[in-house]
Amino acid sequence: MSTLTLRPAPAPTGPPAVPATGAHARLDSRVRFGAGIALWAALLLVTGWWASGGGVRDLGGWESGLTSAGRLTGLLASVLLLVQVLLMARMPVLERAFGQDGLAALHRTVGFTSFTGMLAHVGLITWGYAAGELSAAPGELWDMTWTVPGMLPAAAGTACLVLVVVTSVRTARVRLRYESWHLLHLYAYLGVGLALPHQLWTGQEFTGSATRTVFWWGLWTAALLAVLVWRIALPLARSVRHRLVVTAVVPEGDGSVSVHLAGRRLDALGARAGQFLTWRFLSGTGWTRGHPYSLSAMPDGRSLRITVKDLGDGSAAVARLRPGTRVLVEGPFGRLTARARTAPDVLLIGAGVGITPLRALAEEFCAGPGRVTLVHRYAGTPLFARELTALARTRGCELVPVAGRRRGDGSWLGHGVGPVDDLTALRTWAPDLAHRDVYVCGPEVWTGLVLRTLTAAGVPAGRVHVEHFGW
Ligand SMILES: Cc1cc2nc3c(=O)[nH]c(=O)nc-3n(C[C@H](O)[C@H](O)[C@H](O)COP(=O)(O)OP(=O)(O)OC[C@H]3O[C@@H](n4cnc5c(N)ncnc54)[C@H](O)[C@@H]3O)c2cc1C
Repeated sequence: MSTLTLRPAPAPTGPPAVPATGAHARLDSRVRFGAGIALWAALLLVTGWWASGGGVRDLGGWESGLTSAGRLTGLLASVLLLVQVLLMARMPVLERAFGQDGLAALHRTVGFTSFTGMLAHVGLITWGYAAGELSAAPGELWDMTWTVPGMLPAAAGTACLVLVVVTSVRTARVRLRYESWHLLHLYAYLGVGLALPHQLWTGQEFTGSATRTVFWWGLWTAALLAVLVWRIALPLARSVRHRLVVTAVVPEGDGSVSVHLAGRRLDALGARAGQFLTWRFLSGTGWTRGHPYSLSAMPDGRSLRITVKDLGDGSAAVARLRPGTRVLVEGPFGRLTARARTAPDVLLIGAGVGITPLRALAEEFCAGPGRVTLVHRYAGTPLFARELTALARTRGCELVPVAGRRRGDGSWLGHGVGPVDDLTALRTWAPDLAHRDVYVCGPEVWTGLVLRTLTAAGVPAGRVHVEHFGW
């Protein structure tokens, strides 16, 4: 194991690599703000309709109060259910503003909230209809399911959503293979669809006026169209248009291979360094399962490259791909790109196979000494050692290899750095840390430790850009 000498970073020279306008970052932040406002406006609107329909007045009585509260939770849950679908529809404007992991985190929060609202809706309405007698509620629920129009499909839809939520709770999720969890998760679409007849036939707030009808149908149509366009039609159209094929599979050592791909008009794919796509290699069984892999080289309009570490059956199969294999892609996705950049100087911190998107970013960003520093952490054989050394030599990026096993639970650095704490080491490599954009990619726990050090160093949250390789 090599011991790293802590070498202070050289002073930046030359003009900044990019002007620090941060225009895209500001636009993305406005989109995030606008999306938040739209969500709250929709929730307030339906609450207003509930209140104007006697919702507040009905809260005065016990039975009517239960039913009224049940109506409100049902309305809010319905809005959130459709918002959840929109969040995962891969809409480019949201993808750019939040990033896919940001959207997934929101989807999770909104999902659990909407599910709780839906359970409260079922419980409160039934309790109210059972004349406020809790013991009579199960019988009432049974009767309503069989007699109220649209309730039977709604019950089936609720069962689908229960399945999805139960398998998404962290303790259950870690026991499932990603593929199984993902397949079960698709039942959420069925659950949402089955709730529709019940809402239209019995929900006064859904059809009580032309405005309400337009609002609900508009929301439903937007959710459906978003899924059809961005999750199905666009990936298919892109795959047909660009006709991506594997051109070579090159071993990189340490159980990793690089896959080189070529295709037509790849400039129009719009992929940027730091992004990832979901890949389906048409090489036989298992092709239906898409896997997300980041670009490991800056796209040049003619070819793409990914680098994959063997972590399971899907990634192991990549090493056996043959040149000429056709590929279907979804994406590009992710905001670990120049788009998120706000400052002229950049610090890239990557570990293990998480170095892949940073390798591509280094190629795009490196433009003179002292402007870009890449901290590369690895335990065994480093990925892209030769390529990164060449980038450092020819393009002036400052390379900091951090070798060796991690030195303990609280540190994200290897034994090679010697007896200094993580913050001191990082400040030595990048003294102007707080004024840089920092891009981070690596295992989840490791990333958490890096983020802690960055916070301690005073790097503003808006300057830290992270990609997680987990789900
Ligand atoms: C945004 C993103 C970018 C990624 N980029 C790269 C990359 O450039 N190079 C690389 O080697 N790996 C990358 N990964 C991880 C890679 O997708 C998984 O290692 C791979 O899908 C594992 O599939 P498997 O069938 O071989 O393994 P499995 O045995 O199914 O799983 C092995 C591990 O990978 C996780 N995993 C499996 N499928 C997925 C999936 N579809 N999405 C997320 N995690 C999954 C599992 O939770 C498990 O921890 C990336 C992941 C994400 C989310």
